[in-house]
Amino acid sequence: MLNYSVDAEGIATVEFDYPDKSQNILNAKSMGAYAETMQKALADPAVKGIVVASAKKDFIAGGDLAELGAAIDAAAFHASISDWHKLMRAIELGGKPVAAALNGTTLGGGLEIALGCHYRVAADNPKARFGFPEVTLGLLPGAGGTQRVPRLVGMMAAAPLLMEGKRIKAAEAQKIGMIHAVVKVGDERTAARQWVADTLAAGTKPLQPWDAKGFKIPGGGPNTPNGMQMLMAANAMLREKTYDNYPAPRHILSCVYEGLSTNIDTGLAIEARYFTNLVMSPVSKNMIRSLFFGMNEANKLASRPAGVPPQKYTKIGMLGAGMMGAGIAMSTATAGIDIVLLDTTQEAADKGKDYARKQWNKQAQRGRMTPEAMEALLARIHPTASYADLAGCELVIEAVFEKREIKADVTRKTEAVIAPDAIFASNTSTLPITGLAEASVRPANFIGLHFFSPAEKMPLVEIIVGKATSDATLARSMDYVRAIGKTPIVVNDSRGFYTSRVFGTYVSEGMALLEEGVPPALIDKAGLIAGMPVGPLALADEVSIELVHKIAQQTRADLGKACVERAADRVAAKMVADLGRLGRKSGAGFYDYPADGPKHLWPGLAEQFPLRVGADGTAMLSLDEIVERLILVQSVETVRCLEEKVLRAPIDADVGAILGWGYPPFRGGPIGWLHTLGLTQAVATLDRLAERHGARFAPPKILRDMAARGERFYPA
Ligand code: NAD
Repeated sequence: MLNYSVDAEGIATVEFDYPDKSQNILNAKSMGAYAETMQKALADPAVKGIVVASAKKDFIAGGDLAELGAAIDAAAFHASISDWHKLMRAIELGGKPVAAALNGTTLGGGLEIALGCHYRVAADNPKARFGFPEVTLGLLPGAGGTQRVPRLVGMMAAAPLLMEGKRIKAAEAQKIGMIHAVVKVGDERTAARQWVADTLAAGTKPLQPWDAKGFKIPGGGPNTPNGMQMLMAANAMLREKTYDNYPAPRHILSCVYEGLSTNIDTGLAIEARYFTNLVMSPVSKNMIRSLFFGMNEANKLASRPAGVPPQKYTKIGMLGAGMMGAGIAMSTATAGIDIVLLDTTQEAADKGKDYARKQWNKQAQRGRMTPEAMEALLARIHPTASYADLAGCELVIEAVFEKREIKADVTRKTEAVIAPDAIFASNTSTLPITGLAEASVRPANFIGLHFFSPAEKMPLVEIIVGKATSDATLARSMDYVRAIGKTPIVVNDSRGFYTSRVFGTYVSEGMALLEEGVPPALIDKAGLIAGMPVGPLALADEVSIELVHKIAQQTRADLGKACVERAADRVAAKMVADLGRLGRKSGAGFYDYPADGPKHLWPGLAEQFPLRVGADGTAMLSLDEIVERLILVQSVETVRCLEEKVLRAPIDADVGAILGWGYPPFRGGPIGWLHTLGLTQAVATLDRLAERHGARFAPPKILRDMAARGERFYPA
């Protein structure tokens, strides 16, 4: 856990060396070992000074999230954090010089340990990053980070580190004053030791700046005009950005404001309380579960069928060089894989490559890519109109027009050229995979790879398994998704699969609210307050109301009498068929898009969908009820997907929602949110909503049964 040695001059080296892991992490065990070792060194008269170092390639990767995620005893947690603060203060005030030798990346609690030393020297390691990722998982740097960083570098420089989780390189950390020196890789321990020896020789008492007489916070504390202005602006900006859905950044601001208004010891006590509050909050549990563990599992391909040898890709085919095809080509080329980009004409195919050139050019101009690197990437994209060029592709993905006949045609033409074991994938957003596979002569090799727009940026791929898709095809497709650095979730075939189906309910619910006479401005604001990135009506405009209308027509044609007309279908029909307002692409939807100014709600909505207000003139539904509907309509549809086995696991639903359509991470995901409410409470709320607003809210049987049996989707 820790290696400890003392040299002839009485300088001790405390070296983190977490057993059986490539990284040092901080948990009860390693922190306990550090506390014990440091206390021993401080108490030993033979030890004059201390160097803290790491035996791994990095210093410390941060706290153990499994332990934080599982912590449920607030009093015990608070006590252990307070003990930790006492230890850090004992080190700072112990009279012995302590220096940290930071050989590599130093994050979270690791950086806090370093900040609790009198001196910090970092190796000039280009891969090393310094920062506090806590806020991105609903936490705060609770081992003194919120108190020591702003006291060292000032509130202004501390803000992006603490509030956004920004990671910086050694040179920048030195520039803002977070570390003292940067030295050649391999020299950091010698430099740290030298500082300890020099301090001992000089006979000066080592002190942190905040313990020295006359200490002033760089740039001014919270109660100076500068500080007040900064905090006021930060508060307002935070509120505007997050609608106060994320307690972590708010608590960080409170720690800074309250903690820096007093001395460091009281500041640390304040931080310990806010930290405990966050660790116990459902928000951090949700974010840790979905954004960390869920995402890691997905990226490690935990659900990849066993026994299929891993597939390496060298050549991929892309049919359709439109918006999606060009984006997928970019992601594939970036992964170092050659891609044949096919369209109906050479000109159309070239247009797809031009799109890639334009996007990469922007990056090159911003200095994020050299012109040579860009050319190398472009050289991997081979535009063509000839199917013969697809020979040798291990996988071909189609993103041609959303028409069954066209997709069937390109499937046949492709299969005539590619090897018998090559995979054919469709990027369809709505057509069931099993149906599309009917055009294939080897449906076992046919699969859905559903990308999101813009495909070169969006991190999720929804993999759709058709009736005939083999495990080997699934496993090999998952290898491709990982090869291009995206996160896969696996779902079974169904209308709209998982993501489009559930995401669609959010848009539809917004349209239903409009039909009910709820003010459109309130509907879209409620979406933002719920934590969604865009309001449902604005989103309908983005994806196009025409698409909503087309899908409704297609569903009616496919299902016949079994199709239940929804409020959203009526609203879409009216907007598209009667009013010719198709959405953003036609410059007119729920919003108007004037050429010379920002978009605004179309005033005609008031006439088409008259407001209904109560006797007292206020809206019929409260904001809370609207938010509740917009959120729970997604949860209940997700449970239906689980019940129908469209989804294979709850965590896929949560990861897919967050990465796929920007579902608010603080809720954990559509299932995470039911877990947060508690299933008994969730069923009661859904029953109430179903009674008032219709069967779409009715809790599915599996949810009712789980609630009745006291079961949960996730551990408590
Ligand atoms: P697009 O219109 O931008 O591009 C389609 C391209 O396919 C065009 O370049 C067209 O020339 C080409 N094409 C048409 N018929 C062809 C044929 N027979 N052979 C070769 N090329 C042909 O459309 P898009 O937005 O890129 O969507 C393509 C597919 O991806 C659709 O199935 C769509 O449902 C799906 N999808 C779209 C999105 C999205 O947000 N746009 C998201 C996920 C999935």
